[in-house]
Amino acid sequence: MDELEHKYEVEIEVTEKKQKLPDPIKAELKESGMMDDKGKLKLKGVSPKMLKRMKQEFVNCPVLKEEIQFIQCFVCPNFQSRVTGKVLCKGDALK
Ligand code: SF4
Repeated sequence: MDELEHKYEVEIEVTEKKQKLPDPIKAELKESGMMDDKGKLKLKGVSPKMLKRMKQEFVNCPVLKEEIQFIQCFVCPNFQSRVTGKVLCKGDALK
């Protein structure tokens, strides 16, 4: 499949508010080794500085039809890449 084949380009927005990941997402992240038992995120190739910035970002997900943290989007199976402030999203239905 063409790597850049995507259905949506989703704008990445920034909030000053503290965002919390929903518990089911945390559980998923822990299961896949992307979060430790203390709730600290460990994303491959993401520097602490980038992670800090990512925590303030959110997207209005066209599939889930709600605002979600960028981190949740980043680990979503539909996530393809991030280009100039936008997420290229495959747009497939999520469970
Ligand atoms: S990659 Fe996943 S979370 Fe992000 S916008 Fe697409 S469906 Fe929503």
